[in-house]
Amino acid sequence: MTVAAIGFALVVAVGWIAFELSYASGIASANEQAQRRLMLFDRTLEAMIERFRYLPEAVSQAEESQQALENPGDPAAVEAANGILSQLNDTAGSSEIFIMDADGGVLAASNWWTLTSLVGTNYAFRPYFADAMKRGTAEYYAFGISTRVPGYFLSRRIEGPDGPLGVAVVKVNLGEIEATWWRSGELIGIIDVNDVVILSTRPDWRYRPLTTIEPSQARLVASEQLYGERGIDNTGVITARWPSRGGEFAYIDAGDPQASGYFVVEELRLPKHGWRIMSFIPAGPIAAGAQIMAAAASLGAVALLLVVALLVQRQRVIAARLAEHDRLEHRVAQRTAALHAANQQLRAEITERARADRERRDAQEGLVQAAKLASLGEALAGVAHEISQPVAALSTHLASAKLLATRKGDADTGAILSAMDKVIGRLTALTGHLKTFARKESDICVVSDLSEAVGNALELSAHKLKAFDVAVDLDMPQGPLPVRGNPVRLEQVLINLFSNAADAMEHAETRRLAVTVVRHAGMVAIRVADTGEGIAEGDLPNLFDPFFTTKEAGRGLGLGLSISYGLVRDMGGSLRAESTPGNGATFTLTLPLVWADATKIMEDA
Ligand code: ADP
Repeated sequence: MTVAAIGFALVVAVGWIAFELSYASGIASANEQAQRRLMLFDRTLEAMIERFRYLPEAVSQAEESQQALENPGDPAAVEAANGILSQLNDTAGSSEIFIMDADGGVLAASNWWTLTSLVGTNYAFRPYFADAMKRGTAEYYAFGISTRVPGYFLSRRIEGPDGPLGVAVVKVNLGEIEATWWRSGELIGIIDVNDVVILSTRPDWRYRPLTTIEPSQARLVASEQLYGERGIDNTGVITARWPSRGGEFAYIDAGDPQASGYFVVEELRLPKHGWRIMSFIPAGPIAAGAQIMAAAASLGAVALLLVVALLVQRQRVIAARLAEHDRLEHRVAQRTAALHAANQQLRAEITERARADRERRDAQEGLVQAAKLASLGEALAGVAHEISQPVAALSTHLASAKLLATRKGDADTGAILSAMDKVIGRLTALTGHLKTFARKESDICVVSDLSEAVGNALELSAHKLKAFDVAVDLDMPQGPLPVRGNPVRLEQVLINLFSNAADAMEHAETRRLAVTVVRHAGMVAIRVADTGEGIAEGDLPNLFDPFFTTKEAGRGLGLGLSISYGLVRDMGGSLRAESTPGNGATFTLTLPLVWADATKIMEDA
């Protein structure tokens, strides 16, 4: 609504400006044209008068004129003068030629023979007589009193031997000029010093003031008889006159609609005569031209506004499309994010499933391992039981034999018996191991402090570690770490791990054993890392199998890890090994921590 109103106002404003500019320029060009015309008219007027300027001189010089004025009573002289004046008038083409005596009476005239003859009349009151008598020459426009024909009077004093004799007058008919102007089709008027139109292309304007004048002034002007006996018609030619748009406007109410209307006025002053030539150009066509221009400009503005509106509309459509595009892109991004989230969830589920799978597999492997150990344990228990009796008997017999040999002083036999005693010692150790392996866990309800177990194990291994020149790094949190299981078994497991690490580092350059205890989410992990030779990748799966050993015969039985595995499993924990060959091995023992109350009980204890 507001936009439409602004658009409408804009169109109107453009139209108005175009009208004003075009109108002003039309007026300016009309004035310029009129000025040129007026100058041309002035020149033709001047040329016309100039043609006769020599005549008064010629008349005053003529012998006949002089004779007639010197002898006014001589009919022959007057006739001769009349004759020469007629002849001169015919030849020159002037309106009339006459001579006046010193009193202003017409003595001889070119029209002496006509009814309107000037001879005998007295024009002493006419300025062209008085001025010529006074100054020698005069020029004057007047309405012919006898002839009733207006004309331009050129007069000259006629000198006699005893002073001025009279005045020679030539009347020039300006009607010819009017006819020429009329043919040009223009509306022209010559206004004299009294502001009265004396010549015009419109005959009804003649002897009317330009604008109506005061009646007293009108009477004064009439008394000069310049405009004939009837004087002037005091109805102003122009009804109103005013300046506008850089020009002069006039309204003429001539009675008939064709001659009435608004006109652009242009005038040229003729200072020589005290006259003005005025040109009246109808304002209507100029205004019509300006109106056409205004209409064209308004149409142009409308077209421009339409184009602008179209462009704005287009811009809006593009903006809407872009917004739609953005919205779509946003939706796509949202969908992509949702897909991504779904994907992530799927991945998480897959990972979870893989973890569960792995756990299931571990559990399965554990079960297999447990089953292996159980069946082996049963077999070994039998073997251990069977062997331990004879070994015990053998040991008793051997002790007796040694005693006998000592008594007899048989040193050689004694040495052999001592060697055999060592073998029996090893056999006893072996059966002891086998028994431990085969033993069923029954004391899993005991709670022990892991930190204490670690300390004890390190202390018990100190001798071996020192012998192997191993540096120990212990990193363990303060306070008790309660776990379920027999503390002696726990120490046994740890001692086995420390001992294996020491064995692995026997020939290593750096010998460092790092024991790190970490508490996390209800669990405790003991990492035992060494800088030894490490474990070959192929050995890792068999590490916890019974009798798996890489040690030379006599140094290892390959039961340590498999026993430890079983013990840890009974405690509800796990034992893992990882290694990079050449960079040492790390065993991680993980055990569940017992509830907080147990910790408190232990702390109190
Ligand atoms: P044993 O010590 O009697 O050989 P274990 O069951 O304790 O029996 O160990 C089995 C095998 O595991 C060892 O022979 C050894 O090859 C390997 N092993 C155990 N601990 C380590 C370790 N820290 N570094 C390298 N190898 C090890």
